[in-house]
Amino acid sequence: MERSTIVRVHEGLHARPATRFVKLAKGFESDVELVKDGKAVSAKSSVKLMLLAVKENQEVTVRANGADAIEAIEALIGYLENPRAGLDDESEAGEGGSETAAAAPAPEAAPLAAAPMDGISKLQGVAASEGVAIGPAFAHFPPEIEGPGRRLRADEIDSEIERFRGAVTSVQSRMDLTLAEDNLSAGDRGIVAALRDIAADDSLTGEVERLIKGGDDAVSAVIAAAATIAADFSAVDDHYLNARADDVHAVGRQICLVLLGQDEVSLETIPQGAILIADDIGAWDLARAPLKRIGGVVCGHGGATSHIAIIARSHGIPAVLGLGNKINELRAAKEVAIDGNAGHVIVDPDEATRSDFNRRVEAAAQERAGLKIFKEVTPTRADGTVIEVAANIGSLEEIEAAQEAGAMGVGLFRTELLFMRHMHLPSEDMQAETYSALAKAFAPHPVIVRTLDIGGDKPIAGIEFPDEENPFLGWRGIRMCLDRPDIFKRQLRALLRAAVHGNIKVMLPMVSEISEVTRTRALVDECAAELKAEGVEHASFDLGVMIETPAAVLIAPALAKEVAFFSIGTNDLTQYIMAADRLNPTVAKLNDVTNPAVMSAIELTAKAGVAAGIMVGMCGEAAGRPDLIPTFIGMGLTELSMSPASIQRAKKTIAAMAAER
Ligand code: PEP
Ligand code: MG
Repeated sequence: MERSTIVRVHEGLHARPATRFVKLAKGFESDVELVKDGKAVSAKSSVKLMLLAVKENQEVTVRANGADAIEAIEALIGYLENPRAGLDDESEAGEGGSETAAAAPAPEAAPLAAAPMDGISKLQGVAASEGVAIGPAFAHFPPEIEGPGRRLRADEIDSEIERFRGAVTSVQSRMDLTLAEDNLSAGDRGIVAALRDIAADDSLTGEVERLIKGGDDAVSAVIAAAATIAADFSAVDDHYLNARADDVHAVGRQICLVLLGQDEVSLETIPQGAILIADDIGAWDLARAPLKRIGGVVCGHGGATSHIAIIARSHGIPAVLGLGNKINELRAAKEVAIDGNAGHVIVDPDEATRSDFNRRVEAAAQERAGLKIFKEVTPTRADGTVIEVAANIGSLEEIEAAQEAGAMGVGLFRTELLFMRHMHLPSEDMQAETYSALAKAFAPHPVIVRTLDIGGDKPIAGIEFPDEENPFLGWRGIRMCLDRPDIFKRQLRALLRAAVHGNIKVMLPMVSEISEVTRTRALVDECAAELKAEGVEHASFDLGVMIETPAAVLIAPALAKEVAFFSIGTNDLTQYIMAADRLNPTVAKLNDVTNPAVMSAIELTAKAGVAAGIMVGMCGEAAGRPDLIPTFIGMGLTELSMSPASIQRAKKTIAAMAAER
């Protein structure tokens, strides 16, 4: 017996919905399968369901065979069509799935290479969590677990299966104890909960039991089964699922340790400020570790989207991951310096490097302390006009840091992360919730949301990008959005809905023609009319543009008549004015915002905006530079948006300008 339907589960059957679906399926005696594109998997295994990669709006078939097949199909189809119905207090969008724990934007992976630095060993890894640190090395290399490789006699098999089941139960109860702890952050809790799901999953337990029945001892069977499942996760073309391979290994290891009667080597003894060095750290181990004492993390495994990176970022611990075999060069290190922004690790630094790092760490701490008094300052220029010092952020998790810094709103909310962090395009509801939360958090200050700015260099699931010779000159930003009204309108509708909750403004990236603004405005009107007809609450918003192409600068006077504000994107503007790729270190010298060509482009833009009486702001990196802020304010800019870490320094700079007059 089977029935097909279109999946309405937000983002599809990723980790937590998969677990919930399995829980429902297990409530029925019947064998239940989920079929997608002709491939059928057991609906009683969340790992198998995740690997089926079922997305929102895809067609699937639920197939059941057994006494309660009708009821099973009814219930499971009901869940797929209306996942919120019958749920307890867990909300679909805010649930603690590990993927929702992602914090700051994932940095780009840097190439792995050892770079000599005046005879000192400097390793390059993935810059996974920003900040610099230096401290004693704390090597955490628990011995590899090897299966005894013993063949079981037929009469030993049942008891070995029992032993394995007991070990699984014991790992699950330990994880439950961790989950019950009050001091676990919501993000870390989501991660541990996802690991617990893996430990309980039929595809792991089923495969282990199959191997034991074939005569393998339990430890060898767990190692082999975890390796097979991890390989499946690694093979999927999806970063999120790839990172789950490390989770499967970590869970397998925990089960083996129980089977062997061993304890994991503890992180409890890590000294204050030490740099934790490991080939791999289970997310569960790290979440339970004394995080306040950890100065930095360096790992052979892991990338920017791994759970280790997420935990490190959310606790402000600098981290360099993905060193591969080079991690072995750190096994005997006594002291380690790391630069989590550049992905550098320096082993046993010499005196000069040590004092350089100590100076950077100390300078960062001192500056942070001295700047605190500027948090509540509202800076003004000579005529009393308020200069808004706002934050550039990319996720709701960064709201707190922005507020802590004293941000007067958000000058750039990069929506790409919202699209990149999920396996599927985010739904209108999910986007509306996100933008509303943002608007509420900063009201009455403005929150400028930038519409999706993505291209073929950073593709996202759900949008087919063509292969392009020059993606930075290609189908990206507003160009792509206008060609894909299905995606663009979903975002615009969500923004209109969120505008009810605060001071939402919207800006368009990569604009090079006036028609891009007029076409967007027509779409906004269309969305507003639809929402009105549907009786959905919404409000209008100011529409502005980023000035980041030479074309936009050259038509700035005409553009200014069409929009409510300009925000100068100096990162792209510099690369396009100078024709120097912002990611190419060979032309880094040309990629300089202070080049007179770029500065005059900024000035032309400011003049056009001021003449038209619209707000001119800046959200490129240059907005946070104390050496340039006085010039920008002199040109007429009244809003500067930057990373939260730069806000207090910028306020201090503007206050000092006032003191000079
Ligand atoms: C810019 O180009 O200056 C900008 C702020 O946008 P992004 O860095 O996201 O391209
Ligand atoms: Mg840009």
